[in-house]
Amino acid sequence: MDLDLLQRTLAERGEPRFRARQVWEWVARGAESYEEMTNLPAALRAELAAAVPLSALALEREARARDGTEKALFRTADDRPLEAVLMRYRDGRRSVCLSSQSGCPLTCTFCATGAMRFGRNLTASEILEQALHFRRREAIDHVVFMGMGEPMLNLDAVLAACERLPDLGVSARRIAVSTVGWIPGIERLAGEGPPVRLALSLHAPEDALRSELMPVNERYPLGDVLAACRRWSQARRAPVFVEYLMLDGVNDRYEQAVALARLLGSDGAFKVNLIPYNPTEAGFAGSSRAAIDAFRSALGERGVMATVRLARGREIDAACGQLAARAEASAVTASP
Ligand code: SF4
Repeated sequence: MDLDLLQRTLAERGEPRFRARQVWEWVARGAESYEEMTNLPAALRAELAAAVPLSALALEREARARDGTEKALFRTADDRPLEAVLMRYRDGRRSVCLSSQSGCPLTCTFCATGAMRFGRNLTASEILEQALHFRRREAIDHVVFMGMGEPMLNLDAVLAACERLPDLGVSARRIAVSTVGWIPGIERLAGEGPPVRLALSLHAPEDALRSELMPVNERYPLGDVLAACRRWSQARRAPVFVEYLMLDGVNDRYEQAVALARLLGSDGAFKVNLIPYNPTEAGFAGSSRAAIDAFRSALGERGVMATVRLARGREIDAACGQLAARAEASAVTASP
């Protein structure tokens, strides 16, 4: 729902201010039509149905994997693609991965989104709408900003969405904002906004390799990024989650685990998630399970806590940007 449009429409009708909150409460609980909003006058419900669409995004495609992971590809009103993923876990958790931008201006070489054209920043309503899409079907309790885009480049809208996510059942501490190391955003997040968690996409333990994989490292080198993360950790009294994609023969060697452990230290400021790679067209292969386990052991022996994230939704292109990148590629192929 476009919340600005809702507020404008209600103000033009001279409705009291609490009406916007009433509508939002229904929407946040998963209402699928204005008809359900029984504490609103029938005439107002009909007018809102005509003037303010319940969804700010058009659903273009959905895919569901055998492990329960669901991915949705949407279009904004101005035809920008974006996607969101719902991950269902055996312990009952329901986590939604949200996009903050359509496309991404950063060009990480392993990432399908990075290979797409950058469209624009998403509005707070468009970000919330992705979560609402899944909330209309079932309760959700976790959100990660790890979909398309770099959240720190659209931090106002991301924070505005974070303020409202508790209404959908996702408390701030169950929201993780992931960055490639955009220092101004990390610094802002240390002192501003709800107490969300911070995740850092690191992927390499030294500058040369990191710059190759993530050109943003030229602008914000590893040492500066980790120092900013430490400051965030001290200010928020919480560890930073380090995301480390396991790329076969690229960043998964024993000596790289040793270097990573040395960089992060064992004071608990960082926790590592090792992520099996969902191959894209970028030409990388994922590390073997044995290589991932050995890497994790080398970190653990040096006092760095590491977990291995489950690979999810492989057969539905569940990695960042893959579905939208395919849709864009097919649109380009199909255009005259
Ligand atoms: S990994 Fe994130 S920051 Fe890098 S290109 Fe992909 S979406 Fe952008």
